[in-house]
Amino acid sequence: MRLIIFGQAESWNDALQTAERYGVSDAIVGLSDVNLGNYAELDVTYSLSDMLQLYKNGDIDGVLQSEPENTYYTNILREIGIDKIYIIPDKVDNNEAIKEYSAVGPVLNQIEFHIADHCNLNCRGCAHYSNIVSHPVYADYEQFDKDIHRLSELFSNIKTIYLLGGEPLLNKDIGKFIETARDAFDTANITVVTNGILLLSMSDDLIRIIKENNVMISISDYECLNNNKIIQYVKDNMLNAELRIEKDSFAKHVNIKGDSDKKKIFNQCYRRNCTFLSKGMMAACCTPFVNKYFNEKYDEHLPELDAHDCIDIYEPGIDGWKIKDRLIQPMESCKYCGEDESFKWGLSKEPVDKMDWCL
Ligand code: SF4
Ligand code: SF4
Repeated sequence: MRLIIFGQAESWNDALQTAERYGVSDAIVGLSDVNLGNYAELDVTYSLSDMLQLYKNGDIDGVLQSEPENTYYTNILREIGIDKIYIIPDKVDNNEAIKEYSAVGPVLNQIEFHIADHCNLNCRGCAHYSNIVSHPVYADYEQFDKDIHRLSELFSNIKTIYLLGGEPLLNKDIGKFIETARDAFDTANITVVTNGILLLSMSDDLIRIIKENNVMISISDYECLNNNKIIQYVKDNMLNAELRIEKDSFAKHVNIKGDSDKKKIFNQCYRRNCTFLSKGMMAACCTPFVNKYFNEKYDEHLPELDAHDCIDIYEPGIDGWKIKDRLIQPMESCKYCGEDESFKWGLSKEPVDKMDWCL
């Protein structure tokens, strides 16, 4: 096999070392980037058009992407007509260090999943609207089991799986969700994000499951909680836990008029990486899934599960790469977001004012 490494010049060295490590460096016959800059005169470098010519002539078999997850570079190759794109995947099996891009699922950075939509705390302006969920709403375990295993077909790994809500410890079946997430992704960081209120009353069985499955407990440090007790409890039970101390301010960001520039808002939004899963659908953040609670409460019309926003993980022909491509597209929901306006954390008071969220 004869391949040219393609990607940012800064990543060539790592790619060459990886190829060396897996004993496939003989396949590498050149290096290429969109702009070769200072490297243009080297004997081993090829411009994009030269590389395409070699490919068309059959002088190379394809291109090895130096950064497998860089879809910008993948799209460039596809656009110019190079469809034999190879990567060295995270998990290399000895006989097949170089694999065709389309045959390997990408790595997903993170996924968030609500084990319960409601909460036992009522933070003002909760970004997931959990303080205005009027009745208990628990995740369906069977659906989660199906969906998380479906994701294991689409992605080679998920770096972090956040089990949250609402308050996840309200769901008595949380242990089953943890075990199933671990069954689907054996090396993922599984993190339960809790407000800590129910932490001290976790059952021995749940503590065992948390430890056996190497789960991190991430506790939001709200000033109404007795942190000393929580810290002592974590130590006594030897839990892997963190106290998130940044929780003294929240931010409102809803633009009820829906006239924001969705591309601009999306590109500057840190929540766009909070990939969310619910009932066989994914989106860049939880907003399309939880807007229904705001709409119900205030008789408003924020976008809910818009076909452009949410990705059906069972859609015919879908794969992990296509999902990743779609997750970086601005959503209709983004038109209803504005620039964050922060305020000091506090509890909401009845009647809960929609201006807790709206700009
Ligand atoms: S504890 Fe978290 S989920 Fe519950 S109301 Fe507060 S911010 Fe929302
Ligand atoms: S809808 Fe778009 S802009 Fe709003 S929080 Fe989600 S990703 Fe950010």
